[in-house]
Amino acid sequence: MKIEFVDYGIANNFGNRIELNRNLIWHPSLLHRILKHELSHSKGNYSIKDLILDLTSNHSELDKISSWEIFKFSLENPKAFIQLSPIYPSKGKWYWDISRLICYSPILLVLIGIIILQF
Ligand SMILES: [Zn+2]
Repeated sequence: MKIEFVDYGIANNFGNRIELNRNLIWHPSLLHRILKHELSHSKGNYSIKDLILDLTSNHSELDKISSWEIFKFSLENPKAFIQLSPIYPSKGKWYWDISRLICYSPILLVLIGIIILQF
């Protein structure tokens, strides 16, 4: 697996390579746990196994990544917030992030409901 450092987002696994925010270098413990998470994703296309990994983040106590840590890192590195976007840029292309889409789907349904009720 190839690892590339970029200056936005936090971490993404594209099946054949992993992109990491280069500023994670300054947070070795977080970098280690994030890399471990990304490496536990399957190689190739995003699968149910990957979805479960992302939604439950069932890591051991030692490998836990808290939302607070991620939030603090993102405040220091505002470009990291793009990680929250359901469409994600890489090398001039845009990728859908399936787990994030699923996380947002309840919000989207509520928004669609509100829009429909307006008419
Ligand atoms: Zn993941």
